Amino acid sequence: MACTVVVGGFFGDEGKGKIVAYLALKDKPSIVARAGVGPNAGHTVEHAGRRYSLRLVPSGFVYEKARLLIGPGVAVNSKVLLDEIEQTSCRSRFGLDPQCAVIEQTHIDEETKSQHLTRTVGTTKSGVGACNAARALRMVKLARDFPELSPYLKDVGAEIHSALSSDDLVLVEGTQGTFLSLYHGTYPFCTSKDTTASAACADIGVGPTMVTDVVAVFKAFVTRVGTGPLDGELSSEETRKRGWQEFGTVTGRERRAAPFNFELAKLAVRLNGVTQAAITKLDIVFPESKGVKEYNDLPIPAKDFIDRVEKNLGVAVTLIGTGPSTDEVIERREE
Ligand code: GDP
Repeated sequence: MACTVVVGGFFGDEGKGKIVAYLALKDKPSIVARAGVGPNAGHTVEHAGRRYSLRLVPSGFVYEKARLLIGPGVAVNSKVLLDEIEQTSCRSRFGLDPQCAVIEQTHIDEETKSQHLTRTVGTTKSGVGACNAARALRMVKLARDFPELSPYLKDVGAEIHSALSSDDLVLVEGTQGTFLSLYHGTYPFCTSKDTTASAACADIGVGPTMVTDVVAVFKAFVTRVGTGPLDGELSSEETRKRGWQEFGTVTGRERRAAPFNFELAKLAVRLNGVTQAAITKLDIVFPESKGVKEYNDLPIPAKDFIDRVEKNLGVAVTLIGTGPSTDEVIERREE
């Protein structure tokens, strides 16, 4: 039995999509399950020369034998989902839990009209927050109420349990980041539910004793989109000068940036019960790392940085991203 949960260690956009895709190709799980909040998160996968921006279909779709499931804790938008199923040609191996909440136009309108959400909180206006609020009031409609979703309905918790009982690997994809959590994040500048590994497990119906590994994904610098505190924030001029400029996958908004925050990362290790860390975008902070696949070939300052991360966080950095593609990864897990 093995269940690996992947979560974001900072404010989202850490490169979870690429790490999940890499792990799916390498570890060949029988199931990749998307947990998390909903289509307010965009995960990017660059694989075999193509770039995918996925808001609902699990990033592990690149491993063609994996079942792709979305757990009942995730809010879905039918149009976004059906488009992505087409885009990734995964119809025959995709399943959605009948108890997923469905985002409707009224939820999107509600968020768009709310000055509190658009100006103060800085929401993505994808309707997820309003949908989760309606769910808390037991007023939301579920996937089982929509005929266009009926071909995909599956008991996700039961499928995952059956895979784990057969000693298969299950890979769980969290969304957003630890400090966007409704409970542990920078309230009110946060998302509409918890985003830690425990929440990811609840989203798909896996109990805490079933989890074997929690991988936190950190970027080699910190970014944050929209409002809310960001310690050590750089000016946009300095961000551009360092080559750290990024734009959001869902909103296209320019992300704010700061250097790697060791204290925040340590807290993320504690909140998620992290067993391994992945560091992405090492090549952006240390350009000579670009495309490197062996740890020993990294430039010394990059190795020193990884060393500092391990010493401060108390966990091994087992995966290192040196470029956007699924094959630009340094693997340091023991076989
Ligand atoms: P996610 O939501 O956590 O999956 O992150 P995003 O998709 O919002 O942003 C990550 C971006 O960084 C995407 O454009 C990825 O293709 C890219 N990326 C991921 N890992 C690396 C890496 O190691 N190096 C570089 N240069 N880009 C990366």
